[in-house]
Amino acid sequence: MIIVVGSGIIGSWIAYTLAKAGEEVYVFEKSFHAGDGISGRNSGVLHSGIYYDDTSLKSKLCFRGYEIGIPFFEKYNIPHSICGKVITTGVSVSKNDETEKIETIESLYENGKRLGIPEIELRKDPAKHWKHILGSHALWIPKTGIVDVSSYLKVIWYLCEEAGVVFLKNKKVIRENGCVFAVDSNTNEKEELEATQFINAGGLYSDDLLDTSENREFEIRPNKGEYYRLKTQLPYETLVYPLPMKTSTALGVHYTFHFGGDAYVGPNSNWANSKEDYSIQTSRSEYFNSLKNIIDFFKEDDLSEGYVGLRPRLFYKGEAIKDFVIHKESNWIHLLGIESPGLTSAPAIAEKIFGMIV
Ligand SMILES: Cc1cc2nc3c(=O)[nH]c(=O)nc-3n(C[C@H](O)[C@H](O)[C@H](O)COP(=O)(O)OP(=O)(O)OC[C@H]3O[C@@H](n4cnc5c(N)ncnc54)[C@H](O)[C@@H]3O)c2cc1C
Repeated sequence: MIIVVGSGIIGSWIAYTLAKAGEEVYVFEKSFHAGDGISGRNSGVLHSGIYYDDTSLKSKLCFRGYEIGIPFFEKYNIPHSICGKVITTGVSVSKNDETEKIETIESLYENGKRLGIPEIELRKDPAKHWKHILGSHALWIPKTGIVDVSSYLKVIWYLCEEAGVVFLKNKKVIRENGCVFAVDSNTNEKEELEATQFINAGGLYSDDLLDTSENREFEIRPNKGEYYRLKTQLPYETLVYPLPMKTSTALGVHYTFHFGGDAYVGPNSNWANSKEDYSIQTSRSEYFNSLKNIIDFFKEDDLSEGYVGLRPRLFYKGEAIKDFVIHKESNWIHLLGIESPGLTSAPAIAEKIFGMIV
């Protein structure tokens, strides 16, 4: 019997993959509303993996996840669109800034070619190709898309149940004195759990389930990504990104659109006060200033407060870890620091876990 902790996109894909192969799988979820965690609060982008070096888990799993994901969305009619993505140098403040940005975009382009990402192009004067996009150079990545995350989650939960997965909601898993318990959030009743294998896909809270005697060196700190909603979409369907942030794993405040007509700008990157801190702290004008560095289509009035997602930033002995970590410990497998591109990588993460235990 296998117990998966967490019913986000990662835990659900793992549960589905294992149950389809005949394993008895139980998913424990502390919340009543599954999908409330990181999986329900992101950009919904299917990434190409261009940002990561080819030895990283992020690169390998993002590539493979995309490969498994697209036919899966087609098979189950999950709304998605391979709309492509533009990364632009945006507005520069000085000559030095411009030179640095061109070097960065050229090295991203080289990395993309090295990784074998198909049909990427480095174009000068992006506004000639896409009206309203600012900057002197842009990278065009056709192999990038968006998926309707809420439909995606509903389908994967349905398939889990069809494959025999049992979901237990309002059940928080804890470890105490070498034992594992599920605590009911309504009654506080505690029940001891036994399983041949535990899989910790607890997202922001996955560090709470590490063996306290060994692994407290790992720590997850919540990093806030705020989104502002835009009144209208651009007149064409493409994602528009700035160059990625140098000091963080965040990809920079970008333009995305969702199915049903919504468009957003975000997410930025700020430390949150807690793992429950979903408040918007950045002003509209600050957001507008970021947006107008890459696109000149919108007015400040077009922005209104949107939503917040929290990144599970992983630290080991106080040092930031940039990659996903899959950590094995007795009969536990811990998934740590599964931030972007986790949504894209989910099917491949499940395939990897399957390979580790079956
Ligand atoms: C702002 C932002 C933007 C992003 N954009 C993208 C993107 O465009 N493309 C992309 O590929 N990725 C993106 N990501 C990353 C992606 O969203 C995540 O990697 C993915 O959703 C993580 O899923 P998860 O299942 O690990 O976590 P979650 O969805 O948080 O699921 C974990 C679940 O575990 C439950 N849980 C936790 N602890 C316990 C416990 N002790 N007992 C029982 N249940 C427990 C929680 O309640 C939760 O439901 C983004 C992330 C953020 C924050």
